[in-house]
Amino acid sequence: MAELEVRVISERREGLLIELGRVVSEHGHVLVRQRLLPDERGAGLTMVLRGPEASRSSLEVALGAHPRVLHFESSRETAGRHGPPVPQEAAEPPAPSGTPFRAHSLGMPSGADVARVERMLPSLAKDYPRIFPWLINLEYAVTAEAREESLHLAGRRAGAWVFRREFALGARLAPADALKRIVVPALRDLVTVELRGEQLHVRGCPLCQSGGLSGGRFFCGFIEGILADALVAGEPCANEISCHCHGAPECVFELTA
Ligand SMILES: [Zn+2]
Repeated sequence: MAELEVRVISERREGLLIELGRVVSEHGHVLVRQRLLPDERGAGLTMVLRGPEASRSSLEVALGAHPRVLHFESSRETAGRHGPPVPQEAAEPPAPSGTPFRAHSLGMPSGADVARVERMLPSLAKDYPRIFPWLINLEYAVTAEAREESLHLAGRRAGAWVFRREFALGARLAPADALKRIVVPALRDLVTVELRGEQLHVRGCPLCQSGGLSGGRFFCGFIEGILADALVAGEPCANEISCHCHGAPECVFELTA
């Protein structure tokens, strides 16, 4: 049976294991052992997890995009191969399952239909980059009030997942370089995109039909998620400054950090 070892860095240790333990149990996994140590950025938590293969990638996405997590890495452990023993920490048992995921702090959108986005994440990961049918489905499935923030959250999760999968080993970059070397190559898998100056021009966006509603919040979230752990300084924030749905020839996005 395969086990999953994950290591996260967080700003502080208080409550970290409880909050991440909740995500672990929501994805059908159990904590086998864990170790929490000081790290120069705050606290480093290593967890060995066991659970169904089918929910592994969605669990990784959820942990990697969790607002408490500054850095995330994972590796698979196979039974029979054991590293040095990790001492049990008794003080902070994981929370019981069934507790609703709380979206809070550090810019995590608050009005999103978090549960519905969470349920969709394994499908996004499985079908990536052919994800627009899932996102259009999400737009119809959530309430009108939750639509934009749900797209934003889905974008952040997808961006964080793509970053970890393809870009996590690179050096941290200035915003202009990050746009060129991370955002544009990643977006090219999804849409026709061009970088002009420091603006991203997306042509024929499948989420922004002329006369319809804008789906640009997905791309804002995607840019923020993929750069969350990529910049030398600052918190990435993306905005759509013109949109095809309002009659502009292209959707144009800008990054501030
Ligand atoms: Zn648009």
